[in-house]
Parts: sequence; C-alpha cells; structure tokens
Amino acid sequence: MSPDSYSWIEKSLDTIHRADWYRSVQTIHGRPGATVFLEGRKFVNFASNDYLGLAGDERLIEAAVAAVKEFGTGSTGSRLLTGHRELHRQLEVAIASLKQTEDAIVFSSGYLANLGAIASLTNKRDLILSDRYNHSSLKNGAVLSGATVVEYSHCDPEDLRIKLSQYREIYRRCLIITDSVFSMDGDLCPLPQLFAIAEEFSCMLLVDEAHATGVFGENGAGCVEHFGCTGKQLIQVGTLSKALGSLGGYVAGSSSLIDFLRNRSPSWIYTTGLTPADTAAALEAINIVREKPEIRYKLWQNVETLKNLLANHLVTDYEDVTNYQLPITNYRSPIFCLLLKDAATALFWGKELKAKGIFAPAIRPPTVNSSRIRISLMATHDLPHLESLTTALAAIAIKGRTSKNSVYFS
Ligand SMILES: *Cc1c(COP(=O)(O)O)cnc(C)c1O
Repeated sequence: MSPDSYSWIEKSLDTIHRADWYRSVQTIHGRPGATVFLEGRKFVNFASNDYLGLAGDERLIEAAVAAVKEFGTGSTGSRLLTGHRELHRQLEVAIASLKQTEDAIVFSSGYLANLGAIASLTNKRDLILSDRYNHSSLKNGAVLSGATVVEYSHCDPEDLRIKLSQYREIYRRCLIITDSVFSMDGDLCPLPQLFAIAEEFSCMLLVDEAHATGVFGENGAGCVEHFGCTGKQLIQVGTLSKALGSLGGYVAGSSSLIDFLRNRSPSWIYTTGLTPADTAAALEAINIVREKPEIRYKLWQNVETLKNLLANHLVTDYEDVTNYQLPITNYRSPIFCLLLKDAATALFWGKELKAKGIFAPAIRPPTVNSSRIRISLMATHDLPHLESLTTALAAIAIKGRTSKNSVYFS
C-alpha cells in the first residue's frame, strides 16, 4: 500500500485553487432578509432563494416554535417505521391543493425528492431525456436510476424530438426531466412543447418547480400554472426551502404516483421524516402564498424595476461600452445573471460588488459552464436596494472596461 493514500486530496485541492474554482462558505449573522450581516458589515442581499422573504417572517417562526414545543425537535425515524405527525399529512394536502393535484408526498429536501422520484420511476430498461442545464439533483437522480441518460440541448424541443426519434423505441419507459425555471440562468423551460412531445412519444414528464413554486402562476402554484398546464398528467417536484422559506422537498401528482413513491422511493423510505418545525413553517408559508398574493406582486414589480434600472444605467448611460450586451427582454424570472468571460473575472466582480455593500455570488464551473454573477430578487427588496445594485454594477462595468474584464448580460 502507498505510504499516503490520501495525498491526492491536497493535490486535487491545489488544482481547484489554480483554476480559480475554489469555494468556501461565508458566515452570515442575524435573520435572513433583503439585507444581511456578513463579517460585521451590512450587505444588500442578492444571494438568497428566499424570493418572498418568508425565511425570516414572524408568522413562520411562530408556527415553527409552536410545533417544536408541541412535538419536539426531531421526527425520530422514517415515517413508515416510526409513524408521522398530522402536520406532515396536512402539509402534503396543502401542497396538493396549491398544485391542484390528487396528492403530494413530502421529502426531507428537494434534492432527495428528485433522487427518490427519478430512481424509482425508471431503471436500466428505461430511457431518460434530460435538459443539459438541469439541476444536479435531476442529473444524479438519473444516474442513480440506472436508466440510459441522453441529454438534449438546453430548452430545445427540436433536439429533444430528434433524440427521441433516435432512441425511444429501444427502451421500455421514457422519462423527460427538466427544471421549470433554470436555477443559474433564470429562463423557463418550454413546457407546452415538452408536453406535446411527451404525449407524441409516450413519455412521462417530470418538472422541477424549485424556483417557481410561490413565484409563478396566478395562485403561486408555479410554472405549470403559469403555462396553463394545471390538471395535466405530469410529475411535479419542488422544494420547501426557496420561496417557502423552510426546508424539505415534495412530489405532487396523481394519487397512484404518490402511493407508488411511498412504497418505492428509497430516499423517502429510508430517511428520517421532516422535522415538526420545518413542516409547520412550510405549511404556514403555503397559507401565506395563498392568502397574500400581494407579496408575489411586489416581487414581480421588483423584477420590472430592476430591468428598467439596468436598461437605463447599463445601456443608455454607457452604450459606448462595446464589450457587454444587455438583452433585458430575456429576463423572465427573479433570477438575473451577468455572464462573464472566466472564473477569475467572476471573482473580480464578486469582490467589487462586496466592496460596494452588495452580496451576490460568483458562480463558476463546475456548477455552470460559463462563469457569472447570479442576482436573485426578493419581494422585500426596496427601490434603494435595487438602485444600489445598479449603481454598483455600472461602476464595475466601467472599471472592468479599462481592465479588459469583458462582460455581457444574458
Ligand atoms: C435548490 C434546487 C433543488 C434542491 O432543493 P433543496 O430543497 O435545496 O434540496 C432541486 N432542484 C432545483 C432546480 C433547485 O434549484
């Protein structure tokens, strides 16, 4: 045996550092919100998926505290073995009611929901067609299933059709998997076209509504509602940890689908049930989504305001800057991304923003192929927050021009 079987780890870390891919965690203090404290300084927060600002909301906190006092901190085992709480079932009924599906099942995270659903619906005799930009949990669910995985070009129904024509016949079942709002680009999958193709080629369709639930649709049910696809046969996955401000994931769909998952999903069967606190907080969040649409309207108003601010400050004022483009009309969600030429440039922008009191993460490979700054909006951002972001970006764009840090918006 080699004298040091673990030395490769340090070498591998060196490589990560050299590529400017190294990452570490920053500690924030206090409650989450539109502003946060980092290293003792206050920042305007554009790094959160808490789109409705519910993670620090008094109503969710009270619901969670009450649940802890009544039911304790842990759920003590898997739900099948140990039993579950009425709260768990109430949450599932509330999700199904929001989504207008027959039933829903709650997992301990969105990641586990995707692993569990995909791996139990398909196996080695089957085919999975996966959007190239899908979230890691969809991709790893596909790997775990043992099915043959074919990736199609991002949001490209034509490529999906070509690949299905080529491969569909050879396999038993087929599952198409896609994010509904892509987490790193903020664009939407072409859901109606995907539906038509799934029908044509006898495929199941799974959409991950992680960034859409509570944000899109007339009732906040997600992109399925936004595209008018409510009530259609499909598998909806999502998380309780973004707009719903808690922790956990879910699958919503027909009662036979949910019953099947309860019997076959290893990441549900063999893991401890959601804690009472998380369950109660998520349930309260769904009530708020249904009863207070004005929070969602404020979020969308912020999206419009930021689009206009960017258009005015980064195009009109500095249109002599030739090294970035700003196709504002492409923004369809509260996720904005500023594409940059490489990881080092993204780190430069991240640092400059931080120096100006803006917290927005540089996203680099291997999370994405092309490095970027990711900006996510919250309903609780106010106009001065959005103005400070725009002013900072405009100043860095000018500085970046002289130091040849080319940038373009996508
Ligand atoms: C965040 C995210 C998940 C994972 O959800 P968690 O509850 O955080 O585990 C799954 N899919 C997509 C598209 C996501 O953005």
